[in-house]
Amino acid sequence: MSRTSGNARDCDYLCKIIIVGDKGAGKSCLVQRHVNEEFQALGPLPIIGVDFKIKTLVLEEKVIEIQLWDTEYPHAGRLWVGFYRGAKGALVVYDVTNEKSFQNVTTWLKNIENYVDTDDIKLILVGTKIDDVHRRVVSRKDGELLAKQLDISFIETSAKNNINVDEVFNNIIHSAVNTGIINKKLQTQIIPPISKEKDSTCSSYSCSIILLSNSTSKHKLYPCNMTSTDVFKVVTFNILAPCYFRSLKSITSGVNFHDAKTHELESGNPEMYRKRFDLMINMIKTDEKPTDHNNLFSADVFCLQEFWFTDEIVHIFENGLMKGNNAYDHSFYMRRPFPKKDGLACFVRSSEKLKVISHKGIDFRDVGERVAQLLHIQIKDGEQNIIIVNTHLTFPHTKFDENILRMQQIKSITNAVDEYIKETKIDPIVMVTGDLNTSTHTKKDLTLEHLEKEGYTSSYKKLHGNHSFISHFNHNNETVGADYIFYRNGLHSSTNVSDVYVYPKQITDKEWVGEEKVSTHWMSDHRPLVASFDIAQ
Ligand code: GDP
Ligand code: MG
Repeated sequence: MSRTSGNARDCDYLCKIIIVGDKGAGKSCLVQRHVNEEFQALGPLPIIGVDFKIKTLVLEEKVIEIQLWDTEYPHAGRLWVGFYRGAKGALVVYDVTNEKSFQNVTTWLKNIENYVDTDDIKLILVGTKIDDVHRRVVSRKDGELLAKQLDISFIETSAKNNINVDEVFNNIIHSAVNTGIINKKLQTQIIPPISKEKDSTCSSYSCSIILLSNSTSKHKLYPCNMTSTDVFKVVTFNILAPCYFRSLKSITSGVNFHDAKTHELESGNPEMYRKRFDLMINMIKTDEKPTDHNNLFSADVFCLQEFWFTDEIVHIFENGLMKGNNAYDHSFYMRRPFPKKDGLACFVRSSEKLKVISHKGIDFRDVGERVAQLLHIQIKDGEQNIIIVNTHLTFPHTKFDENILRMQQIKSITNAVDEYIKETKIDPIVMVTGDLNTSTHTKKDLTLEHLEKEGYTSSYKKLHGNHSFISHFNHNNETVGADYIFYRNGLHSSTNVSDVYVYPKQITDKEWVGEEKVSTHWMSDHRPLVASFDIAQ
């Protein structure tokens, strides 16, 4: 095994290693000694509670990117899921001069086991600070015994005196590599989408194909008999994936979503989710009057978030929206990286009004495992280009989510749009829609600020003077901003938002959710947001 300074992007494999243990146990010093070959007492990690260090190794002619994820959490509490996901090795660290840190080892281990299948991860128990012989309270024997009970490897170290530090990391990396549990590195940012034209069957449908392919998507042209359009209408709606939090209990009693046990989730109750999705399709189709711009079904582009990728749900939507008169013509899907089961969907009405030029999936490759769809369409006989981005950002649970992760996500979107414009040399109107999951409406949100800085306008704010708080009651039953339709004019192309509202207009947020949570309108704790744009002639 040799160390290289190769560019992490050129790697063949990824190996994520997490380092857990009590605060002060010596985790950061261990990483620091191994990566930077120095011992330095470090201050607490800034804001985020997680620090990454990356090193690159060449092993059997394979370039492997090792990601070391260090934590800074005071208690052996649960870290956020993304921290554990995909980890191939874990150092469970305790301080031999601190009894409590030793007692907490089992809790740290249990947390790992909650999120990662132990067959897929190599674990090692690490005792630190053995140079401090006078203060030692946990004997080597105690450590060995616990490791034996837990059936994991064991080693004692000193970052200060550089004893056994490289051995810890080499041990875990070697066993991860040797057992073949490391991941093939994904190479590309842009992923080919799945698109389906009207009346195609669901049998060829497979969402997993979007995950690992390296090729970039091609422009796909559809026949077009459009003349011109004066109003362009977009809808965004988070339909809630049955696999997250939502339980029968939470619907009927309004209890905290997070209290739901896996077997109580809606995904385990087909009767419940089928009914909800059927209602949804009905709602979209009931006031089917193509000329009435105040109904849902007259949208040119219908963007969905938390689309659940099972054949059954795809079928419900394809049958409901793509068949019959006045139906949508194209559907596009983008699933989040495996093992996430949900993602995004867009339904587009192309005939008469507009044509679809291309659809690209954007995978942010972030720990939040979020994605976006970039849809390029043309209206007015090809004179006007419109780009629509549909996305669902991470909820700002922590400072890390708020200040770092979400910013990465929104910047991935604005960068992808700018790159696409550069590549295609078009001058489009751009719309960013979806569930942006902003924090409570009293707080400033950095992602919205970023969009505004990049020249985007919130359609709702433009007409109503405030951001929309679209009936999204979070798990603390607070109303939070979530669903947005932002737009940005081109240099020589412009639009004005003429109408924007939360559907249905006559129903309040409380009525939508239903005080008793049994209202027939309770299809989602979000509501569709509808925006109509005047396109200058
Ligand atoms: P973390 O919170 O687990 O990341 O712990 P740190 O790595 O920040 O270390 C906490 C404290 O332990 C610091 O004051 C370090 O100087 C000290 N420390 C870390 N490693 C060693 C070691 O090998 N020997 C001794 N004597 N002290 C250490
Ligand atoms: Mg630390």
